[in-house]
Amino acid sequence: MKCPHCLVEIYPNSKRVGIGTDKDGSWYIEVTQCPGCNKNSYYLVCYELRTNPGGTSKEVTKSTNLIYPKGTNRYPVPLEVPADFSKDYIQSCLVLSDSPMASAALSRRCLQHILRDKLKIKKSDLAKEIQEVIDNALLPADLLESIDAIRNIGNFAAHPIKSQSSGEIVDVEPGEAEWNLDVLEMLFDYLFVRPEIVKKKKLALNAKLSDAGKPNMK
Ligand SMILES: [Zn+2]
Repeated sequence: MKCPHCLVEIYPNSKRVGIGTDKDGSWYIEVTQCPGCNKNSYYLVCYELRTNPGGTSKEVTKSTNLIYPKGTNRYPVPLEVPADFSKDYIQSCLVLSDSPMASAALSRRCLQHILRDKLKIKKSDLAKEIQEVIDNALLPADLLESIDAIRNIGNFAAHPIKSQSSGEIVDVEPGEAEWNLDVLEMLFDYLFVRPEIVKKKKLALNAKLSDAGKPNMK
């Protein structure tokens, strides 16, 4: 598992504190401490004891919810991404575990904002904008495939409102909200992070060329 504080892969020792039983099952808080950042995380777990035909009983976990830190298990937004674009993404991550519907609405809005602002596409709805990106191959092939899947996984045909009013809260398909966030991360990398890296490398190279009395790279 990843530590929700520092996002490093850890194999923590955990301990559990029982807190009661109700008609849904038995509840406990699982406390894990990260050996890397020394911070605790708390999960609320519900389980049921099921009796096997042999008479032995087995614990079956019914739900596990991270309750602290209020988390996303996602990497922080790279600094190169302007706040204008990252704010919807961050909110979308924060509400993901409580409301995938709200999360997907925010991530669709963020996607539309990026397509309109960075790729200069403006159509009447998000599905048409995605089509425009695909038709004109405005992104690398893996990204084209990934944003096309936003329409397919989200079943835009059955929920036209997702496309017409991208920030509207409507039902989500399983995995849709996570997928949207994965795609936004890839877009951030391609549209904001990589150009900045190239820019810095070019500046460094030009400094070397100038030192050697050679013309700069365009
Ligand atoms: Zn940690």
